[in-house]
Amino acid sequence: MKMAMPPSTARRGQRRDLDILIGGGGVVGAATAVLLARQSATCGLTVGLVEPRPPLMPVPGSAWDLRVFALSRASQHVLQAAGVWPVVSSRAHAYQGMRVWDASDTADSPRALAFSAAEAGESDLGHMTEVATLQAALYAAALQAGVRLFTAPVTGLEISADHARITLADGEQLRAGLVVAAEGRDSPIRGLAGIEASVHDYQQSGLVAFLQSEQSHQEIAWQRFLPTGPLGLLPVADRRLSVVWTLPSDTAAQMLAMDEAAFNAAITTASDGVLGALRLDSARVAVPLRRVTAKHYGVARVALVGDAAHAVHPLAGQGANLGLLDAAALVQVVAEALARGEDPGDAGPVGRYARWRRAEAAPLTLGVHGLQWLFGSSLGPVVAARRTGLGWVGSSAWLRRQFITHALGLAGEVPRLALTGQRD
Ligand SMILES: Cc1cc2nc3c(=O)[nH]c(=O)nc-3n(C[C@H](O)[C@H](O)[C@H](O)COP(=O)(O)OP(=O)(O)OC[C@H]3O[C@@H](n4cnc5c(N)ncnc54)[C@H](O)[C@@H]3O)c2cc1C
Repeated sequence: MKMAMPPSTARRGQRRDLDILIGGGGVVGAATAVLLARQSATCGLTVGLVEPRPPLMPVPGSAWDLRVFALSRASQHVLQAAGVWPVVSSRAHAYQGMRVWDASDTADSPRALAFSAAEAGESDLGHMTEVATLQAALYAAALQAGVRLFTAPVTGLEISADHARITLADGEQLRAGLVVAAEGRDSPIRGLAGIEASVHDYQQSGLVAFLQSEQSHQEIAWQRFLPTGPLGLLPVADRRLSVVWTLPSDTAAQMLAMDEAAFNAAITTASDGVLGALRLDSARVAVPLRRVTAKHYGVARVALVGDAAHAVHPLAGQGANLGLLDAAALVQVVAEALARGEDPGDAGPVGRYARWRRAEAAPLTLGVHGLQWLFGSSLGPVVAARRTGLGWVGSSAWLRRQFITHALGLAGEVPRLALTGQRD
């Protein structure tokens, strides 16, 4: 249903420069801006986006950037609603299956967990996407949709009854009815708003690179759980894989320093040779891993989205997927608030958003944290439990269905946009 365009509160002459100001134009912040600017219920609002490092669109035909996300069906829908999926999918690769197994077992063991899109009646289970393309497409769409862009980082925040005032590093001050914190796991806005966050340093790093495999990956996302951390091998092209290898940080540093032949041997061994010999096909980088959980996902005038609210271990590839659901949920709550005649930055709407997304994200982030402990343990009973557990999930039709629904991002209370991919 097409709703009447709401009058911008900024234009109504309140002491505001913008209705909504988003700090951080990573994937989640930029998606929030584009969705707000494109939905008929919210497109009358004045929206600003602060991003100190505006992304550049990769040159067609160039090699993929190392940063790659496994995006779920729900995320695909959000990006469709944002109008960027045609560009994003031009540098994406669909995967058809998943196979997860424990290092104490083999990949073809009946206790390995294996799922396919076909058994769920889906065309695929998700897409490997290049983050650089995703960010640049969202940034371009924000510009095209009339979002005001700022490039000096956020340095200050003051909250008052009817607006929040953001200060940028160049001294500019902007008053907005709602400020959205989307500057990632070290979010300055979260701290300035007085929202506490718990931080867990895994003492691990995620080593990221592209590999060539001797054997076909069969369009399957492979994941082997080793005591040192999981090894994910994700298909991006014929016999080409994006690897996310979780390792203790000192081991990761050694893997970066190794010559290519030694690295190829080490990663082939870590994969148990499941795809034959693996060969490095890019640079290698390692990202230190921390779990960050905000105590609240918002207070009056400030809402947290993406890693600013919840940075999770990458073993389940859920961080950006969760963040895109935050973006869709926040836009839905803002639209509903406007329809009720509420100010979207008031404690009521922000509280509704914060409770909704916390209820959805907290069990998942805790679950991922627990999995990383469970699979990192070499205690005999724990090893037995996880082997049995994987087999048990695999043999129950109901659990299989639950697992696939989660993998597609369609479990729980899903925002409308993420269900349909349609603009309101
Ligand atoms: C190795 C690895 C693999 C991963 N794989 C996956 C995957 O397969 N699937 C998945 O869903 N997730 C994955 N993730 C998680 C994913 O990277 C994050 O969840 C996601 O990037 C969070 O997006 P964001 O926009 O919230 O934050 P960020 O990507 O951190 O973006 C924050 C933005 O804020 C800007 N910023 C910073 N400071 C300021 C400031 N002061 N003022 C204004 N702007 C500022 C930054 O320039 C940046 O652009 C992975 C993570 C790692 C480490």
